[in-house]
Amino acid sequence: MSENTSDNGELVAPAHIKDIQPYIPGKPIDDLVRELGLKPEDVVKLASNENPLGMPASARQAIERELAGLGRYPDPGGYALKNVIAKRLDVPAAWITLGNGSNDILELVGMALLEPGYSAVYSQYAFVVYRLATQARGAEHIVVPAKEFGHDLDAMFEAIAPNTRVVFIANPNNPTGTFLSEQAVTGFLERVQATFGNRVTVVLDEAYNEYLPDDIRIDSVALVKRFKNLVVSRSFSKAYGLAGLRVGFGLAQPALTDLMARVRQPFNVNSLAQAAAMAAFEDDAFLAHSAKVNSEGKQQLQAAFDRLGLKYVPSYANFVLVHVGDANAVNQALLKRGVIVRPVGADGLPEWLRISIGLPEENEILIRALTEVLGKEAA
Ligand code: PMP
Repeated sequence: MSENTSDNGELVAPAHIKDIQPYIPGKPIDDLVRELGLKPEDVVKLASNENPLGMPASARQAIERELAGLGRYPDPGGYALKNVIAKRLDVPAAWITLGNGSNDILELVGMALLEPGYSAVYSQYAFVVYRLATQARGAEHIVVPAKEFGHDLDAMFEAIAPNTRVVFIANPNNPTGTFLSEQAVTGFLERVQATFGNRVTVVLDEAYNEYLPDDIRIDSVALVKRFKNLVVSRSFSKAYGLAGLRVGFGLAQPALTDLMARVRQPFNVNSLAQAAAMAAFEDDAFLAHSAKVNSEGKQQLQAAFDRLGLKYVPSYANFVLVHVGDANAVNQALLKRGVIVRPVGADGLPEWLRISIGLPEENEILIRALTEVLGKEAA
């Protein structure tokens, strides 16, 4: 028997890797087209929290300019993109880590800080990648019961154990769409810092930050300047419309940034993504339009759920979590009608669907299909 095979011929792998429940992505449009013989234009996908406007024209132009250079590796340091971000957010470029999506930032924190015998704290119903990033390192999970579908920061603070290295906070959270105020987050960081110093790193995942109304958005840049044990992550996949390119970034003081740099792949963000992100980050008009379309779409969906008598969690992001009862059956019936949404049974919410906010006409198709499926009168 070679050292790479077991008695029964199975590959040998660490138990914590074999135990991973793989991430379940939103169903691709092409799959449904193949399975049901539908035309792509008859399918509405509201399943992956993508920007229904697509990518900004400014980013498309930047990509076109970049194409000729694709024979070369991307800039490993992301100099130009980091400088654009640094200038706008008023942080040193050396505090920025670029990621292959903000997922990559979450993974980098896991790789840099977690190992067997140590633990990460996160909330029930929190973004699933916290579980994956923890388990991939063979570290322990401390999952704290949610409070009204959101994070219970007091309970999360109490749950920090002697072996805890990382606390993950999603704000807003996916799949619940809940939001924690600046006061709540700042208070949590103060307590963690006062009690544990820099032994515990807090990740503040702000993938949906740009959808928040200005008056409640947290000044997380100020928090990064204040707390050495804080990583803020941001995404270009949502409001900036670049999900397919995979680009996001993390902000942290030099000590944490340096740890993440040690485990980062040198060319983790490709040249097209860097160029497009740079253009999108400066495209205020596109961002404002994305936020407006989202806020109107949210009202449209939430009003329809009210009419249908469906419970939902008021959302601060670009999706709404809605209670439909037998979510699997409803999901199947919606798929037959060409509407892809996201069942969240794997997140412990078997009676709920997460519906991404689309364009007004896409939302309308969803509302009509849902009304039909639930056997309700269209309002
Ligand atoms: N954080 C949260 C809370 C998310 O919902 C997502 C996307 N599903 C991500 C991070 C990662 O997004 P991306 O890697 O596309 O930036």
